[in-house]
Amino acid sequence: MRLSRYFLPVLKETPAEAQIVSHRLMLRAGMIRQQAAGIYSWLPLGWRALRRIEQIVHEEQQRAGHIPMLMPTLQPADLWRESGRYDDYGQEMLRIRDRHQRDLLYGPTNEEMITDIFRAHVESYRQLPLTLYHIQWKFRDEVRPRFGVMRGREFLMKDGYTFDVDRAAALHAYNRHMVSYLRTYERMGLTAIPMRAASGPIGGDDTHEFLVLAQTGESEVFYDDRVTALKLGARQIDYDDRAGVAAVCAEFTALYARTDETHDPAVFEAQVPEAHRKVGRGIEVGQIFYFGTKYSEPMGAVVVNDRGERVPVHMGSHGIGVSRLVGAIIEASHDDRGIVWPEGVAPFPVGIVNLRQGDGATDAACAELYAALTERGLEPLYDDRDERAGAKFATMDLIGLPWRITVGPRGLAAGKVELTSRRTGESEEMGPAAAVDRLADLFCAAGQAQGRDG
Ligand code: ATP
Ligand code: MG
Repeated sequence: MRLSRYFLPVLKETPAEAQIVSHRLMLRAGMIRQQAAGIYSWLPLGWRALRRIEQIVHEEQQRAGHIPMLMPTLQPADLWRESGRYDDYGQEMLRIRDRHQRDLLYGPTNEEMITDIFRAHVESYRQLPLTLYHIQWKFRDEVRPRFGVMRGREFLMKDGYTFDVDRAAALHAYNRHMVSYLRTYERMGLTAIPMRAASGPIGGDDTHEFLVLAQTGESEVFYDDRVTALKLGARQIDYDDRAGVAAVCAEFTALYARTDETHDPAVFEAQVPEAHRKVGRGIEVGQIFYFGTKYSEPMGAVVVNDRGERVPVHMGSHGIGVSRLVGAIIEASHDDRGIVWPEGVAPFPVGIVNLRQGDGATDAACAELYAALTERGLEPLYDDRDERAGAKFATMDLIGLPWRITVGPRGLAAGKVELTSRRTGESEEMGPAAAVDRLADLFCAAGQAQGRDG
């Protein structure tokens, strides 16, 4: 993408309404625009980051054997009357009436709808296990929408629903989600710690939240600091291997890690040596629930088991805050000049800065770099505007692309361009072809280190 043809409305001033750094940076970098309290447009750069995150979520869900689909944002109230939640949900639910006086609502979640789909089409345990998920906009009329996309009213969520014949199978589905979430967050450059949670309105006994440590997080967290060193890394996961998947979950949940809702000071002190006890704050970026037959019983989602008995199906629901993650990643990865995108989620992998726009040699070298990078699947953002070098660097630093290639007449005379890491600030001079090779290797290696295929 050439910046001269792009739409990147960066702000010079720091917006006064933004209280936390990710919100400020998303506004300044021209990623979002607020349209009403807690409701945002995703401008082109923000949209690209959001799409990268969505893509990783899709890949890891499908790797775990979960099936993508799409349910609507608007739902009939009658489904929610069946489960009893139409009255229970309260003011967070946006209720709508259509021209025929039928009650609708803008879905805050989809348990009822997916249960309705299931009961219409599934009859036998032979059709199980089944996990269906979608990534769809939700609406919750939060009392205090704030912190930009971190607590919006309209927000994008991945929500997945598991259907199993019994508790043991359902717990395997739960564990599969835990492991796939760990990999998902790692690929985004995040350390998200599974913490035992309280269940809230969705219901259920087995539930974990995933928290990213950050001072601006809304949850207070208590943990053994050794938990932050745990990594899935490059290990291969066989998602059909119940014992293997359970062992990974055991490893990641053995150390004490809880939110204020479930924290128990006596257990904390007994289990965690003083030197490892940490109290901090965290951002909830996902939650998994096993809730048994809470919806299947009232809604009649029944299957015939292998003994010929009709039993309510065991269910779970599993969410990832896709749009919140954009903010959470920035909270976890920025400096005083701007965003520092982890490679896995950067809206563009690399920026090209032409130090002398209009100079035949630098223009040609930039065009060649642009073509070579694009051919290797690394679409660059090329700053081809007629601007001072300082302004171009400031924009690149603000929007936080992981790598920058700087092309100037002096270097070019020696056959060199400069490759700079946004994270470390370190620069290295090399030939343009070597810079392209280096980036292609880096992005391919980053993929492989996380269990992807190149
Ligand atoms: P919270 O406690 O932060 O209000 P929740 O527990 O009500 O969230 P869930 O029902 O668990 O939310 O939804 C799954 C995920 O969706 C959450 O883990 C979070 O990442 C995201 N999410 C929930 N509410 C919002 C919101 N208002 N804005 C953005 N993301 C949200
Ligand atoms: Mg939650």
